[in-house]
Amino acid sequence: QVPLKPGRSLMDWIRLTKSGKDLTGLKGRLIEVTEDELAKHNKKEDCWICIRGFVYNVTPYMEYHPGGEDELMKAAGTDGTDLFDQVHRWVNYESMLKECLVGRMAVKPIAAPKGRCSTPLVILVALCWTLSRSSLSFLNWGAFLELIVVLLLKIKLAFKTTRQRYDWFQTDSLIIIVIYTKQKDMNAELVLVDCQDKRLRGEIIVDDHSYLIEVDLDHAVQEDLAVNIAEKVGKVEIILKKKDNIHWKMLGQPLESHNTFIKRTDRELFYRKCKLVSKTEVTHDTKLFCLTLPKSTHLHVPIGQHVYLKQPVAGTEVVKPYTPVLPFLPLDFKEPSCNAGAQIHLMIKIYSCGLFTQALDHLQIGDSIYVSNPEGNFKKSQVQTLEDLFLLAAGTGFTPMVKMLDWALTEVRHLRTVKLIFFNKTEDDILWRNQLEQLALKDERLEVQFVLSQPTKDWVGKQGKISSSLLSEFVTRSRKDSKVLICICGPTPFTEQGVQYLKDLGYSQEEIHAFTA
Ligand code: FAD
Ligand code: NAP
Repeated sequence: QVPLKPGRSLMDWIRLTKSGKDLTGLKGRLIEVTEDELAKHNKKEDCWICIRGFVYNVTPYMEYHPGGEDELMKAAGTDGTDLFDQVHRWVNYESMLKECLVGRMAVKPIAAPKGRCSTPLVILVALCWTLSRSSLSFLNWGAFLELIVVLLLKIKLAFKTTRQRYDWFQTDSLIIIVIYTKQKDMNAELVLVDCQDKRLRGEIIVDDHSYLIEVDLDHAVQEDLAVNIAEKVGKVEIILKKKDNIHWKMLGQPLESHNTFIKRTDRELFYRKCKLVSKTEVTHDTKLFCLTLPKSTHLHVPIGQHVYLKQPVAGTEVVKPYTPVLPFLPLDFKEPSCNAGAQIHLMIKIYSCGLFTQALDHLQIGDSIYVSNPEGNFKKSQVQTLEDLFLLAAGTGFTPMVKMLDWALTEVRHLRTVKLIFFNKTEDDILWRNQLEQLALKDERLEVQFVLSQPTKDWVGKQGKISSSLLSEFVTRSRKDSKVLICICGPTPFTEQGVQYLKDLGYSQEEIHAFTA
């Protein structure tokens, strides 16, 4: 993020888009854009960018782009889809850039689909054809057969790694969809199911890929659904209850992305409507929002991942990321309650001039808000075999540490120490101070250190900002060569400085996890 000039906030941009000003220079006309035409608009004063086949004139948006003009210029006059997806595929550009839409890219001849098995198949067919028209010697036949075996093995491998499979069957009252992922250690966090108005969407995460079942069901089903997972063999069952006990002739009509297996980052973010059930004060400016998922949703947010909230602000859909926390820090290990997975708790700081958080703060109990599927690159396996865990948090950068702290203390067998160093401006800003102190009293492996950057003179604890000397004092292995992970989260410059200090202190890339968007 770069500092924007006064009058160039997101709210100012929304106002400009609603002003009726001609932002494309085309007086509302939509045109078909060729690659050559797109390439001509590659200057700051005249900049067009293509995202997913649609071309936008982003010239008027330049000064409003939170990432700065130079970032936007990287895609000037070209297809910026990949760049956009890398940096912020969650940003709702369709809504934000609606008034900048120039038109569609001119259609090019469609290339053959890039299925993994298509190349060997094509070669095989070509070879057979050539063979049928030529006379090969006996020796060449041997080599040829060997080639065929290799190709068949390749095809088998391609199918094995890319092809998921699903079946469905029914009883008098149930529809059961079975997905064979062949993924060992399949778990509830990797299965995302939504069923709204006969529309079923089941997404299974397999490594960095996503398999999707998306159908318009043949008949209506009841609101609640169940998901069963056979973890060892990777079998997932989605169980729907029929509304009427009639025999279904088919599961339903396949929708556009049905039965596809693609890279997770290429899958569009899916949102469901959730209800705000409570809003409680954590500090003077931070609140705990509790949202209920629809009964027909199966969604568990993994540790260290965030979701996106979407809501209209002044008529434009705005999206921002938030990291789910627990409702409180449990002092004893408990079996997850039956509400786990049915509710999402978010600890959110309300900024007095914040566009999104002000709108969030105005939500009333019972109001709805859209919540996305989880995202993030933290993996539980990074913690599973740890001995020392260090958590460096600043302000609401504490949120990813909440589930991590609880999980590490209850589940990680060889854990010797957990140290949380929590940076805030003042004592009043410390989130869940009491709970943290109680947990540290109860569990001797946990140490909590609060550091204040703007303390009152009564503060006897540590003060200052993140620094190399502070980290060298705090981040120390419990024994030489102990297995350690240092997690860091806060304002971007805080995180970047912290990572640099840690590297300077000799910690490796694998030993540091920085939470970012
Ligand atoms: P804006 O309108 O964007 O900004 C208004 C003013 O608020 C700014 O001028 C600035 O003074 C202040 N401000 C806004 N954003 C920031 C910021 N990011 N850092 C410092 N000051 C800022 N926030 C939470 O409260 N809880 C979370 O769990 C949480 N999780 C996040 C997870 C990820 C992956 C990321 C990237 C961010 C997360 N955030 C979280 C921040 C959140 O996404 C928003 O940036 C924040 O709520 C401000 O939005 P806004 O529209 O109200 O502020
Ligand atoms: P804040 O109250 O403004 O700051 C918390 C502490 O960090 C203060 O001590 C502050 O010191 C210090 N700090 C701020 N900027 C710094 C910098 N440039 N260098 C060193 N120290 C700095 O924080 P906040 O408003 O809660 O913001 C929390 C941030 O965390 C947001 O940016 C949010 O986007 C981010 N976040 C990210 C994720 C994620 O997963 N990526 C999750 C949650 C939150 P000063 O007195 O000097 O300001």
